Amino acid sequence: MKGVTGEFDVAGARAALAFFGSVEPERLSHGYLFTGSSGVGKKTFARRIAQSLLCETPKATLLGYCNHCAGCTLVHAGTHPDFVESQGVVRIGKEGGSAQHDEDLSSRDLVRELSLRGYRSDHRVVLLGDIEFATHEAANALLKFLEEPPAGVVVFLTTSAPGTLLATIRSRLLNIEFAPLTVREVEGILVRDGVPAESARLAAEISLGSVTRARSVLEGDESGVRSAAFTWFAEAMAGDVPDHGFLRLDDRSLTAGEKRAAVGEMIEVVRIAARDWAVLSLAGKEAPLLAPDQRPLLAKIPKRKPDETVALLSAVGEAEKLANTNVSAGLVVDYLRMQLAPRP
Ligand SMILES: [Zn+2]
Repeated sequence: MKGVTGEFDVAGARAALAFFGSVEPERLSHGYLFTGSSGVGKKTFARRIAQSLLCETPKATLLGYCNHCAGCTLVHAGTHPDFVESQGVVRIGKEGGSAQHDEDLSSRDLVRELSLRGYRSDHRVVLLGDIEFATHEAANALLKFLEEPPAGVVVFLTTSAPGTLLATIRSRLLNIEFAPLTVREVEGILVRDGVPAESARLAAEISLGSVTRARSVLEGDESGVRSAAFTWFAEAMAGDVPDHGFLRLDDRSLTAGEKRAAVGEMIEVVRIAARDWAVLSLAGKEAPLLAPDQRPLLAKIPKRKPDETVALLSAVGEAEKLANTNVSAGLVVDYLRMQLAPRP
């Protein structure tokens, strides 16, 4: 493993660091898919790789930049001609029959961006953050790029819902997973952003490893799904049929997409609850948790046999995959509840 030359400022991202830290710059692929919950540093990592590739100071590794050359300065200013980043969620294509190009990269722009070679640098980096879905035109643009990529162009896609991407796109990208950050990592990022230490610590503790969620907590606009989902998990683990009214699946004023998002968030919370419960069962009461504030609730749930514990974790993963398909949200919740119930 070669590692990093110069600065490379990211939190967490262990899998990505291990991967890109050992890859030779000339062996870089043309398309990467960064998956993982929102707020765990996928886009930040892609921006740091972009800066590493566009940094003009010679260095021994792919990762790392000097922060003072002309390339680095242009990246910081957001004006480097060879770095294109989409702002916010890119919705390319159609939903419900109507064309939707509500972000700054339409599929036509995408075709153009992907066909250009580096202008100032040998490299050109295109970051498409939070890609949600793509139609034929957009998919074709990406596929064509991936079949015949111009030399030096690298595209990074990030998503927290990889199941919503077309399989043909997914299969041509190298997938790298981003795990939740630790409480300490989230806290460190918040403190560096100027959040007072005590607030940063509290927000980090209930962030479930996501800087995005920690910021919502600080701004007081957390959806409320989090604590309801922990309670739901504890009741399901006891074999009860808990109320999932907090998901508002019967509310006709919500779109299918909004309901899917609520279920997605719930499953994410359940995944972390199950993970923390398993850690408590297997490693003991003092083990570090992603949701330390929920320790009392999780500690009350009886332990199970190790093989049952492992099976339960993979069942939650299955539910997460199911939630990424067209299966109705209610069925996904029922499936998850049955998987959590103790075996008779
Ligand atoms: Zn530089």
